Amino acid sequence: MASNPSAQKSFHMDPEDFRKHGHEVVDWIADYYKRIESYPVLSQMHPGELRSYLPDKPPQQGEPFKAILGDIEKLILPGVTHWQSPNFFAFFPSNASGPAILGDLLSSGLGVQGMLWATSPACTELETHVLDWLVPVLGLPQKFLSSDTGGGVIQDTASSSTLCAVLAGRERATNFQSNQRGVTEKLCAYTSNQAHSSIEKAIKIAGIGSKNLRLIGTDEKFAMKPEALTNAIEKDRAAGMKPFFVCATVGTTSSNAIDPVPRIGEICRRHDLWLHVDAAMSGTAALCPEFRHIHNGVQHADSYCFNPHKWMFTNFDCDCFYVADRKTLIQTLSVLPEYLRNQATESGAVIDYRDWHVPLGRRFRSLKLWFVLRHYGIEGLQFHIREHVRLAQDFASWVESDARFELVIKPPLNLVCFRLKSGDNANQKLMEALNGSGDLYLTHTRLGNRLTLRMSIGQTNTTERHVKKAWRRIQEEASRLT
Ligand code: PLP
Repeated sequence: MASNPSAQKSFHMDPEDFRKHGHEVVDWIADYYKRIESYPVLSQMHPGELRSYLPDKPPQQGEPFKAILGDIEKLILPGVTHWQSPNFFAFFPSNASGPAILGDLLSSGLGVQGMLWATSPACTELETHVLDWLVPVLGLPQKFLSSDTGGGVIQDTASSSTLCAVLAGRERATNFQSNQRGVTEKLCAYTSNQAHSSIEKAIKIAGIGSKNLRLIGTDEKFAMKPEALTNAIEKDRAAGMKPFFVCATVGTTSSNAIDPVPRIGEICRRHDLWLHVDAAMSGTAALCPEFRHIHNGVQHADSYCFNPHKWMFTNFDCDCFYVADRKTLIQTLSVLPEYLRNQATESGAVIDYRDWHVPLGRRFRSLKLWFVLRHYGIEGLQFHIREHVRLAQDFASWVESDARFELVIKPPLNLVCFRLKSGDNANQKLMEALNGSGDLYLTHTRLGNRLTLRMSIGQTNTTERHVKKAWRRIQEEASRLT
């Protein structure tokens, strides 16, 4: 019988070519980090520019790897905003690190899809274990441990965690009926007027309706006023509404404000409301005993999340989500079709993380977190977090000593909110000049209805040299404006 010539044919990259190109890519990344400060931090690309360089159609024939990698340098890099530059002070850190990148590479290499314990036991068990590790070192309550009533899971983002918290809170408040017949109760939820937009998004997606999210007023430190929360709950009750959910923030995006979780927690217990604590940006600080007070009151929480993909040197995406009562979360999200049934699941002896979040499929994300924890150790993480906070406090003192500027609020941790006293226009121009120069990148917010600059210090490789240079550039541009 004639042999089929196509049986031998393959377009795949064989393991030896993979090894060769893999080394080239790792070299490229290492070189990128070495020269990262030579690029403008904020990409200077115009809208549509990259697309104008790309061919209209995908290649019919495969191309050499060299050509593909060459285009990373030529086409892609100019359109990259360098989040990993030590001169990146915008939004919030989204910091990567060597061990996290390598852990993520291994996750890609293994190509595991860990939807069920049975589809890769290591993917589930490492995740459970690493999330348990973090409970005591962050000063989180015992009930978040998998050996207690709760447990932790890695989600893609804090937004997804908040959505799951809202859904579980909704089901608890409606005795799991909303899942069956839709939301018929007049549910309402609460968060501060400084909370992240992901809370409103979750409320919309969960069918509560954004009109039923109350934005509670804040004090002079931009933290939620507990008495205003109580008043809003009582007013809603009197009007026939059914309050069910509160989200407190530990470290708001705009100003790093820390809501008074102990008092908010008491209110939630008194009114039987689900309390979710969003510590996306700042939770990492609790690794240091001197900052652990930010988690005071979290013992009242039904759920909590923080993002190692922001400030804990673990590249995107990695959000740790904890619940106090895993049964409620699982009952909220579980659907078990026949094709997913298996002996391990039936035995009840394992965790199936597909029931802990919206997607079914899941990557082996705990690998990168495990690599980070093992590479740095708690001591190494504490060192770098402390350094970032120290640099932010130094920066704040420099702002205070320049009569043209004012500090909008004393920075609780690593985010400094400041502005020129001469008004919004001047601050806008200052920010545009700095970002246009490519020397650094910072962003703004509005606090007290005035445009405020935010200096967010948390990039992996930011040191004193970078913060000093940033301040020098800010002063130079301010002088040019006046
Ligand atoms: N919550 C807070 C306090 C944040 O600062 C952010 C990030 O901007 C988020 C939530 C949203 O984070 P993610 O991108 O992980 O959904």
